[in-house]
Amino acid sequence: MVSGTGVEGPAYERFHIEAKSADHVYNVPNKFDVHAKRLRLAAMLIHETIRYRFNRDIVLSRPCIYGVFSGRLGGFKPIKQRCVGCMRCVQEYPHIMQVNYGKKYRELGDLHWTPESVFTILYESSTGKIPVKGMGYKGSFSGEGWDGIWTDMSEIVRPTRDGVFGREYISTSADIGSKPFFLDFSSSDDVTGKKIRLLQSSLPIMLQPPESSKLDIGIAVKQSASKLGIYHMSRSPLNAYEEDPWYVPIVDKANLGKLNLDRAPMIEVDLFTSNRGLIGELRQRYPSKLISVRLKIDEAAEDEACRLFNDGADVIHLCADYHGFDYSKTHSHISHGLRRVHTRLVNEGIRDRITLIASGGITRAEHVPKAIICGADLVGLDTTLLIALQSEFKGETRDRTDCRLASRKIEVAWGAQRLINLMASWHDQLIEILSAMGMRDVRRLRGDVGRSMTDEELREQAFEGIDKLS
Ligand code: SF4
Repeated sequence: MVSGTGVEGPAYERFHIEAKSADHVYNVPNKFDVHAKRLRLAAMLIHETIRYRFNRDIVLSRPCIYGVFSGRLGGFKPIKQRCVGCMRCVQEYPHIMQVNYGKKYRELGDLHWTPESVFTILYESSTGKIPVKGMGYKGSFSGEGWDGIWTDMSEIVRPTRDGVFGREYISTSADIGSKPFFLDFSSSDDVTGKKIRLLQSSLPIMLQPPESSKLDIGIAVKQSASKLGIYHMSRSPLNAYEEDPWYVPIVDKANLGKLNLDRAPMIEVDLFTSNRGLIGELRQRYPSKLISVRLKIDEAAEDEACRLFNDGADVIHLCADYHGFDYSKTHSHISHGLRRVHTRLVNEGIRDRITLIASGGITRAEHVPKAIICGADLVGLDTTLLIALQSEFKGETRDRTDCRLASRKIEVAWGAQRLINLMASWHDQLIEILSAMGMRDVRRLRGDVGRSMTDEELREQAFEGIDKLS
């Protein structure tokens, strides 16, 4: 019963992810290194003591509202982990205070993962909140890869779509599978012409921890995925996965007989290690299941995508390396390959018959809508999951077969909550972006490049016909 209305039936429920605090269990380096010049600080304290005649309240008043100087020794021993880098102390006492990025903080990550992006994921997964900078954006407004794509946030539509706490519902559901082009009412019972193989995910995101991940991480991923209503992928033959309706097994010739595929809603064939013959084999054995194919993005990806459609694939999972660069000779960013494959499928008239998943280098919440604008239906998260679970950097994380992120021992419930928090934060950020673009459904965003601008294209247009200075 919908309360107060007298109407029978289930009450309307908005999709919402419940975040709960899940603090870091391993030490995180201090972002800021706060340092006071001690002699100058002592001189100032003596001067103020005389000037204000031993008025304790004035002499001991601190400029920091975050309690960095609230220890017994005040500025002589600042509590660095509380510093948020607001720079108020530096502005008020420039001759005494210095605030820099911490040395260990600067060493975090690798070529792709900047310290800032690692901290952002740690913050999102521990709180479930949207990170708010509050000090203005100090970075550049363009860059490599996803940073070279800007979304169109129109001031005209913004008032009607008011974000996370808005009155309107904004859907973040994604369809996986093949949609029929038209309904055929001439057939007696099945107007879709054939039985539809379609799955729904509450977010346009799939979880797929790197293969080096430990067992407890796999179980935390499984638990979080089933609570969120999204799919997760693994090659692991864990019994714990077998009864899981959200588990998508990744198969190749080597592990085919070891996995129980009967209950899986979708099966992913790994073309990195198998040949296309396996698709037909599985299609014959499981006619009602979705077949996804894991394909590396290279120069031939568009042609290969069309061939895979003809072979009976329902989903193509386009993979770049973990830094988001493809396997072509030029190692281009995944966004280029994704746009090429999407456009080719549109031109062939088969785009709605197949789902595109993009993975590799999706490390920030804003990468999700940007990948969808480039043509993906869903994105896959990999190393991002390990960062949320406080794995340790041991080198470059780029290589799919040798990802240098060492997973640490975790408690499964803690890990699952961290991943739920991460998704809660990303869901809210997705809603914010969609609302700012005036969209009510993330599915409408797919391939809508007209709602974005790319740095590369704008430069080409602006400087077209102008010769470079030699
Ligand atoms: S930068 Fe801001 S938060 Fe950090 S110590 Fe100074 S006043 Fe406190």
